[in-house]
Amino acid sequence: MRPKLVVVGAAGRMGKRILSLAADAGQFDVVAAVERRDHPDIGKDAGLVAGAKRMNVKLGSAYPAAADVAVDFSQPAATDKTTDYCTENSVALVLGTTGLGDQQRAKLKAASERIPIIVASNMSVGMNVLFSLVGKVATMLGEEYDVEIIEQHHRFKKDAPSGTALTLAENICKATGQDFPESLIHGRSGKDAARQKGTIGVHAIRAGDITGIHSVTFGTLGETVTLRHTVQSRDTFARGALRAANWLVRKKPALYSMADVLGIS
Ligand code: NAD
Repeated sequence: MRPKLVVVGAAGRMGKRILSLAADAGQFDVVAAVERRDHPDIGKDAGLVAGAKRMNVKLGSAYPAAADVAVDFSQPAATDKTTDYCTENSVALVLGTTGLGDQQRAKLKAASERIPIIVASNMSVGMNVLFSLVGKVATMLGEEYDVEIIEQHHRFKKDAPSGTALTLAENICKATGQDFPESLIHGRSGKDAARQKGTIGVHAIRAGDITGIHSVTFGTLGETVTLRHTVQSRDTFARGALRAANWLVRKKPALYSMADVLGIS
C-alpha cells in the first residue's frame, strides 16, 4: 500500500513541486492538499493548481481524517497546527518550513515522543553533505581562519538569514566550541565595524529568482577556502522531502534529520 500523503502549503512554490513529483513518482497516495483558508485557489483541483495532471484532490484548508505522512513547506505561523494534527492522528511529519521559533522547536521535540518527525532546513543531498563537512573543515583550519557565510535567495523569501545558513553556522559552532547563536554577526556596517575574532559573519542577499546559493569562506592572511553550494531547481528540495517522507513512515517516534535519511550521520 502506498503511504497516504498530506501536503501543507500545497499552493506555494515548494508545495506545488512536491505535489507534482509525488504524482509523477506514483509512490504516494496524495489524500490532502492543505492551504490557508483564504487562498484564492481553494476548491480547485490541487494537481491542476500545481501545473500537473488532475489529482482529484481539492485544495482545502482542512486536514484529512487519516494519513500516514504530512510534508509541510508553509510558514512558521502554520506549522503548530500541522504538528498538532500529526500528533493527534499518529501521522509522521516532514517539516521543511524555516524560521521556526524556540517554542515551536520545543513543541516538535515533545511531539517526537509520539510520532516520527524530520525537521530539516535544507532537504538537498549536497547541502546535507556540506552540513556534515563544515564543522570538520573549521576545526582542521583552526581559529586563525575567519568564517563568513553568505546566502542568496529570491526576493520573495520571508525569513533571513536562511535556515540553511543558520544550520551551517550552528554546525561550525558545535565543532569549534563557539556559542550559537551568540557568535553570529548579521551584516556589518558603520565606522567601528571591524571584524572581531571568534565571530561568524552571516550575510543575506535577496535578488530576483535565485533558488538558493550558500557559501562558507574560511580566510586567513595569505589564503581563503570557500565551500559553495548552488541549487538550480526547487525539485532538489522536493525530491529530498519525498525521500524523507518515504523513509519516515517506517520509523519509530523520534526526531530525525536528513543526515539520518541519507545515512551520513
Ligand atoms: P511560498 O510562500 O511560496 O509557499 C508557502 C505556502 O504556504 C503559501 O502557498 C501559503 O499560502 C501557504 N500557507 C500559509 N499559511 C498557511 C496555513 N495556515 N496553512 C496551510 N498553508 C499555508 O514559500 P516556499 O518558497 O514554498 O517556501 C515555504 C517554506 O519552505 C519557507 O519557510 C521556506 O524557507 C522553506 N523551504 C525549505 C526548504 C528545505 O529544503 N527545507 C527548501 C525551500 C524552502
